[in-house]
Amino acid sequence: MKLLKTIFRSLFSFFNKNKYSVVVYDELPTFLDKKVLYLIGEKDDPWLAALKCPCGCDDVIQLSLIKHDTPSWKVERSTQGTTLSPSIWRTKGCKSHFFFRDNRIKWCD
Ligand SMILES: [Zn+2]
Repeated sequence: MKLLKTIFRSLFSFFNKNKYSVVVYDELPTFLDKKVLYLIGEKDDPWLAALKCPCGCDDVIQLSLIKHDTPSWKVERSTQGTTLSPSIWRTKGCKSHFFFRDNRIKWCD
């Protein structure tokens, strides 16, 4: 029984290794944690999404969720997790290009 629990736990952490948690705040905190997607505003109507760049460069990426802004992103929530669309392509710094899909980073080539 104990062994089974250990196996289960290590499998769980393996599958969740790259998973982000999603938190909702009124304001953008001064310091952002890695592997956390911050949604700022109302839970059901956030206006900003922010995360630390997943490449490790430590830059903070801020994405407007306001429909009329250019560019702007859309948050979709499902039982699988949270998805941002379209993809995130940094024009400055590290020029990372990735998707945030179901609480995970999917890199583009
Ligand atoms: Zn980066």
